[in-house]
Amino acid sequence: MRAEIIAVGSEMLTPDNLDTNSLFITEKLNEVGFQVHFKTVVGDDEQDIVGVLRSALQRSRVIIVTGGLGPTEDDLTRRSVAAVLGREVRIDAGIVEKLRQRFASRGYSMPSINERQAEVIEGAEVLANTTGTAPGMWLVENGVGIALLPGPPREARPMLEKSVIPRVAALGNGRTLARKTIHITGWTESEVDARVAPIYRSYPNIQTTILAGTGQISLRLFRWLEPGENPSDLDRLSAAICDALGSAVFSASGEPLEEVVGRNLLKEQLTVAVAESCTAGLLGALITRVPGSSAWFRGGALCYSNELKISFCGVPEELIAAHGAVSAEVAEALARGIRSRTGSSIGLSITGIAGPAGGSAEKPVGLVYVGVANDRCTIHARRIVPGDRQTVRERAAYFALAILRNFLLTPGGSAPSSSR
Ligand code: ATP
Repeated sequence: MRAEIIAVGSEMLTPDNLDTNSLFITEKLNEVGFQVHFKTVVGDDEQDIVGVLRSALQRSRVIIVTGGLGPTEDDLTRRSVAAVLGREVRIDAGIVEKLRQRFASRGYSMPSINERQAEVIEGAEVLANTTGTAPGMWLVENGVGIALLPGPPREARPMLEKSVIPRVAALGNGRTLARKTIHITGWTESEVDARVAPIYRSYPNIQTTILAGTGQISLRLFRWLEPGENPSDLDRLSAAICDALGSAVFSASGEPLEEVVGRNLLKEQLTVAVAESCTAGLLGALITRVPGSSAWFRGGALCYSNELKISFCGVPEELIAAHGAVSAEVAEALARGIRSRTGSSIGLSITGIAGPAGGSAEKPVGLVYVGVANDRCTIHARRIVPGDRQTVRERAAYFALAILRNFLLTPGGSAPSSSR
């Protein structure tokens, strides 16, 4: 079944804003058996919106429009949809009242311009907006379902899930998309593909894609299911791939690395603290993206300068003089230092050369050392990560998490020092 998405908003035709709504809309449409054939970003121009809508009505069974439901002159979605369908628009007094109450509950009186958000296209079902002001709409025209969603993702997503997807599903033919995502760390894309291609090629009904992300490789497996069909072959393929890749797989359910590491720390009742040089907070930010991370994350230090590495984390000055700040010795000393400074079970450190300057033949840009210390041992890992300054910093933070995961997997909490 064919679906398409129209993102309305001139800001998404500038270098500053991206249409991200279409990503989660696509995911949800797929789950109820609709495949997205077109995605269009169109500016705030009535003629352009009308043109895109006319084409969409010719070729799609479901059309999801996001954006342009606000109160201002450039919010043209309602008017454009009404024009294409030849339907009237009227102000709904009940919605006006609800908007008034919403403003009053925050201590404001509603500007009259907001009444435009109470305009309803003739024959449309109104969809409640639980997280904002502009209500959405659902219409069916000659068997084609049309949803109007607000632009802000925090408003569009709950309305899509709660009100739109059940209506879309009712127009479908019962097919659904089953999928699995496997995340892998420590291997390159070609290493992963060489190992798993012979396995996934023996499942021709399942589509398999490999994506190289910032700190991980992801394998996405998916297949359309007829009504009542069981995706047991998807489970078998996923299990076979996990077997072949062993401990390089950190999640077979799409869980991000920081969640997996957090869960492992929690299970072992361990805490971690970080000492970050080149990443200057990215690692701490990554760890604390997980709700509840205060149970395993103590905090950390941004030891960007040598002075702070020495004074705060107790790295011996001679060690820096002898080996340089970006070295295995300093990474290990930082990990030990932050551990004892914070009283955490584990100290985790990063020191590296993010570039673009500061590299040498011996220590190129992208060189990263990670240190991990517990009460029994200290280890380090070394890697040269590719990319520009920001990418190196992000990859370094993920690399540190991957090393911590290996450390936790190893009995006694140690892992061999690695280099690449
Ligand atoms: P509002 O009631 O807030 O005016 P609206 O439906 O009119 O809602 P827009 O004014 O088109 O929405 O967009 C408001 C903001 O929502 C945009 O500045 C942008 O940040 C975000 N937004 C809009 N469309 C998208 C999209 N397709 N993907 C991601 N963000 C979007």
